[in-house]
This record gives sequence, C-alpha cells and structure tokens, in this order.
Amino acid sequence: MRAWLDDFKLSHPLVIAGPCSAETEEQVLAIAHELKNSDVSIFRAGIWKPRTRPGGFEGIGEIGLQWLQKAKAETGLLMAVEVANAAHVKMALEHDIDVLWIGARTSVNPFAIQEIADVLKDTDKIVLLKNPVNPDLSLWLGGLERLYNAGIKKLGVIHRGFSTYEKSKYRNNPEWQIAIDLQNRFPDIPLICDPSHIAGKRDMILEVSQQALDLNFDGLIIETHTDPDHAWSDAAQQVTPDALKQIFIDLRVRKETD
Ligand code: PEP
Ligand code: MN
Repeated sequence: MRAWLDDFKLSHPLVIAGPCSAETEEQVLAIAHELKNSDVSIFRAGIWKPRTRPGGFEGIGEIGLQWLQKAKAETGLLMAVEVANAAHVKMALEHDIDVLWIGARTSVNPFAIQEIADVLKDTDKIVLLKNPVNPDLSLWLGGLERLYNAGIKKLGVIHRGFSTYEKSKYRNNPEWQIAIDLQNRFPDIPLICDPSHIAGKRDMILEVSQQALDLNFDGLIIETHTDPDHAWSDAAQQVTPDALKQIFIDLRVRKETD
C-alpha cells in the first residue's frame, strides 16, 4: 500500500499544493507554473466546493477539469480534485485526473463513500480520504475500509482536524491522537496532514506542519494561491508560492538543527 509513495522518489515528505478552489484558467495555470520545480509533486484545486452555508462560491464545475489537464500538460505536476459523489468521479476520470480526494463533509456519509468506492473499484488512481468533520475514528476507519474493500491500491488518508463548538486557536482542532490511532490500525497507508484546514490562518501553517512532521506524517497538503487575500474561498489560510517555499526551507532548517 505504501508502494505508491515510493513512486515519487521523494526525500520526504510528499507535498500537495494549490488553491482551495480553481477560479479561472489563468489562476490555475499561474499557480501551477509557480509550483513546478519545487517540493510540490501534486497540484490540488477544488472544482466542486462543499460549502457549509449557501451563498458562497460553490466551485467552477466541470470546466475546471480542462484547466487542470492543461496545467498538467504544461507543468508535469499530477492533478488532484475533491470528489463527493459517483458523478464527480466519472467526470474526473474522463479528464484523466490523477488523484481524487474525499472531503471531510463527504467522509461522514457511508452511502457517498460506498458509491465512490463502487465507481473506483480496482482503480490505479491515488485516492485520499480526509477525516470526517467530527472526531469519530470509526467513521474514518469505516470509510477507509470501504475504499480498501473496493480494491483501491493507492490509498492515503488526510488529517484536516475536527470541528468543535468551543473557541479554539485552530479552525479545526487537530486532536492528533485520532490520526495516530488510525495510523496504528493501518500502518501501510500514508498519512498526510492538511495544516491549512487545521490552522485556518496562514501564520500558523508552519507550526502545524512541523508538528505533523514531528509525528512522522508522510506528507502535507497546503493551500497555495498567487493572491491569497482575494481567493474565492478560504482566503485567510492560503499562502503564496513563495511563502510555501519558505515554509519548506524553515522545516528543513529545523530538521537539520535537531
Ligand atoms: C478543501 O480541501 O478545500 C476542503 C473543502 O477541505 P475539507 O473537506 O477538509 O473541509
Ligand atoms: Mn479549502
């Protein structure tokens, strides 16, 4: 199961980066070009956005998949999108998307996970499952088992923290122990941290990334935008490509001075 990670020939960790949402073709291409020739192996961009409340930007839809295909052809980066149902998966596969991730609002729904697992049966694509929004290890494990039982060989999990009604310095509380417990149950499945959705603000991304690497996470997925303040979703937590590069310099420096 970990073998797919070795295909990247990484020194460590696997880095996935790109905007919360694909907004325009120019925005997608500009960010992808800034991220090629860096630590980034996989480009992320949401096409269908599961917004908690109505009225926000709900995603650009299928046309965005063509922009990602173009970004892949021009930069060589692998492309990742969020899928929430069987129709999304079919469209993503038609556009040769390499990595499909299942978001936190979908991970809570066994029906949705099962229909996604059924269309992806025996796929060679990389499939990443985020934790459910609530701190429920069995729900996360159950989703993983549905994907595993469908014969998906390149599986990974993303820890993006858990929502809470209490005031917290995090947007989503990390509750690291839940991710560690999941990894203990499935030690062969790569564990990726999403510091962007845990932190909710860009000045905490380095600190949360560091904690994840200290806990031996295999990768990081970090929302990155050329104009974060004007991003159409999750503006406060996105970093510029230059800030992303600085985060990896800082993580490396800290590692070397350990
Ligand atoms: C996202 O990755 O932009 C997203 C919607 O994340 P989550 O499912 O973790 O809330
Ligand atoms: Mn986001």
